[in-house]
Amino acid sequence: MAKDVIDDRFIGSLHLMALSREGLAHDEEEERTVIQTSTINALLEGAYEGDVTLGELLQHGTDGIGTIQGLDGELIVLHGRAYTARADGSVVELGPETKTPFAVLTRFESGLQGEVEGLAYDEFLATLDARHADVPVLAIRATGVFTGLHLRSVEKQTPPYKPLRDVVADQTEWHLTQERGFLIGFRFPDSVAGVEVPGWHLHFLSEDRTHGGHVVSIDVESAELEFCRCHDLHVELPPQVALGSVGEADRGAINAVEGR
Ligand SMILES: [Zn+2]
Repeated sequence: MAKDVIDDRFIGSLHLMALSREGLAHDEEEERTVIQTSTINALLEGAYEGDVTLGELLQHGTDGIGTIQGLDGELIVLHGRAYTARADGSVVELGPETKTPFAVLTRFESGLQGEVEGLAYDEFLATLDARHADVPVLAIRATGVFTGLHLRSVEKQTPPYKPLRDVVADQTEWHLTQERGFLIGFRFPDSVAGVEVPGWHLHFLSEDRTHGGHVVSIDVESAELEFCRCHDLHVELPPQVALGSVGEADRGAINAVEGR
């Protein structure tokens, strides 16, 4: 095992590899790969300062979600450009030098791969689950018109950092009736709990880039769908973060921070 590969294993049909920052720089671009920095468990414990920049991560993916340094909002990466949706509801484009303590990116296979119309949030996710039950990780980018948006974001933090559960207790939530825009996110299996958020985790960005946030709920009026059916998860671990016991996580804490 190369020195910059910290861990390399298969979990069912998912190839999980943990890398140092140097390993990330040398990581080859692969199809159907998700690239991530740090772990959800580290974020839950208040590790809000990462060691990699969005520019470094954008070498390996074009679309994704997460947060940025100091937990300054909800990160949305769309078509190679990064934005944060802050707790005051504003959306700001981010430069490549911005660091992140937790982000997950991929590349979408080109072309339209599906369309949906008139689905409530639960029906939408159930439809995706039924069509893509065979892959360990599903990434989705939905482009269209959405209704009943329930979004949230979190306030920027300063050291000493509180655990995420306490930050989320003061989160800002808001509702939008109808928006044209993009839904981006991932469905991870329970087997990678602790490293990632098990189940669905989606962020929204409006077409005019004025609204965005972490999705608590959203209904689909009509949307075109693109997917990455992913089999590889490469995780860059900052020096103070360990992979831990993969599959073990505080589900209550994750559900609380994800607004479930
Ligand atoms: Zn989120």
